[in-house]
Amino acid sequence: SAKREHSGEPKWFDPAIDEATAKYAELDRQLRAALKSGEVKPYYQPMIDLTSGRIVGFEALARWRRSDGTFIPPSEFITLAEETGMIGELSEVLFRQACLDAAKWPRTIRLSFNVSPAQFSSRSFGRKMLETLAETGLSPQQLEVEVTESMFVKDVQLVSALLEELREAGVHIAIDDFGTGYSSLSQLSRLRFDKLKIDRSFVSSFLDDARQAMIIRAMIGLGRGLGMKTIAEGIEEASQAETLQLLGCHQGQGFLFSRAVPAEQAATMLQMTWPVKPEGNTAVN
Ligand code: C2E
Ligand code: MG
Ligand code: MG
Ligand code: MG
Repeated sequence: SAKREHSGEPKWFDPAIDEATAKYAELDRQLRAALKSGEVKPYYQPMIDLTSGRIVGFEALARWRRSDGTFIPPSEFITLAEETGMIGELSEVLFRQACLDAAKWPRTIRLSFNVSPAQFSSRSFGRKMLETLAETGLSPQQLEVEVTESMFVKDVQLVSALLEELREAGVHIAIDDFGTGYSSLSQLSRLRFDKLKIDRSFVSSFLDDARQAMIIRAMIGLGRGLGMKTIAEGIEEASQAETLQLLGCHQGQGFLFSRAVPAEQAATMLQMTWPVKPEGNTAVN
């Protein structure tokens, strides 16, 4: 406050800053404990083929529910783990569990796993992932790794080499939150991706906004033209799914179909079909 500034009190004794630091340290301590006790787990959100209405894969999404019942969103604890350097450890635990869960699914059902930009600073990143696959019995062909455009602000050569190592083993690479990052298009020319994930922000607005609709059409065309699968995230309404299907988008994901659910529930969802294709529509997929 203005009063404080004139009080002559050095601002590093600001009790508000002290409190924030203490909270941060406490959350860090709790996250470490939670990781050990298994409070942090992957949940699974289905990815749906927009023509057949069937599940083609699940995205693993980290969930942390504390013993007192409170829920901490990944936007908080993933960011924290990235800042404190715990992300490698956290990812290893989550990835191993996700592989064990996915190894029980039919071989045609893919596991999608999010990778943080911070993980790309480790040379052994790809090798470790392949080792975990081998140990858990999940085939590399069944895995898809989701990366965001922000990881390319890192060493582009190293990132590309690490992703190529995985691709050569048969792992699919998806570019997540497409369209929101920095120089999206140059990333596509640099590296081969198997899948383009259209960011939720476009999906939520394209039905009421002609400009967003044009952009989403262009993204689907671009993805298809480059031989990638296209998937739209954040589908909440049937009309969005139907229109995306007509525009040639291959897959969809969102609360319309399901939120992320625990592994046991995901397994029972495999038999479900969602009514995505409107009667008599002639779109080719
Ligand atoms: P993301 O990879 O883009 O994941 C999609 C996010 O959108 C998820 O949020 C999901 O719950 C949410 N979502 C899905 N469908 C809908 C919908 O129809 N409407 C709305 N409003 N939201 C929807 P979540 O689980 O909170 O995760 C947020 C972000 O945290 C993820 O974005 C991802 O970047 C990161 N994250 C989550 N789990 C992991 C993980 O295990 N490792 C890493 N490195 N990052 C993770
Ligand atoms: Mg993702
Ligand atoms: Mg995404
Ligand atoms: Mg997103």
